[in-house]
Amino acid sequence: MNIFVLTGAGVSVASGLGTFRDKDGLWSRFDPMKLATPEAFARDPDQVHAFYNMRRRNLMEAEPNAAHFALARLEAGLKEQGGKLFLCTQNIDDLHERAGLQQVTHMHGELLKARCVACGAIMPWCEDLSVATPCLSCGDTGNLRPHVVWFGEMPLFMDAIYDALLEADLFASVGTSGSVYPAAGFVAEARGHGIRTCEINLEPSDNARQFDERRYGPASEAVPAWVEDMLTSS
Ligand SMILES: [Zn+2]
Repeated sequence: MNIFVLTGAGVSVASGLGTFRDKDGLWSRFDPMKLATPEAFARDPDQVHAFYNMRRRNLMEAEPNAAHFALARLEAGLKEQGGKLFLCTQNIDDLHERAGLQQVTHMHGELLKARCVACGAIMPWCEDLSVATPCLSCGDTGNLRPHVVWFGEMPLFMDAIYDALLEADLFASVGTSGSVYPAAGFVAEARGHGIRTCEINLEPSDNARQFDERRYGPASEAVPAWVEDMLTSS
């Protein structure tokens, strides 16, 4: 069986990394338009760097949780059975990788990478960034930004993502609010191609009605239970 899994902030909640759109979410405390847009970065790069430096430090202290480890088991288990997992995440953290996932497609970029807007180089980055940080590739200062997709920017790897989605036997949406496009449109795309769909989330998402199967609960409990079912039923 080929499974396409889309993950969102819900899988990282038990690791202490918050969600965005809940009442206690990150965007209830911070204004995304002042922190996560190209215009905000052009206007006030120090403030944008401070926000991502804080998130990067939080991430360095976080650990993967049972949901991340279960998805790594799913990847290994499907491979053993001759199938495949394509894991597409909206998360910019590296907790899937740290849990042992071999293939992770980060459609919204990666917090632990920096990109130089002058030379285009993308480099691993675990330290704070500032307007004074020189690019490791071209040496220019003032041109490094977090390698994350901001509001108004195109998500990454969309061709590969749609190819993988349409090859899947099952589309599973895990821990995502179903409100951010294009990812929120994957379920309709999958359905349109006759692919079975499953939602695993804390509560019904904005798209809940579009899913064939729905499972609700904290990701750290609901995901391991679902993975167990997937690997024993196929
Ligand atoms: Zn550069």
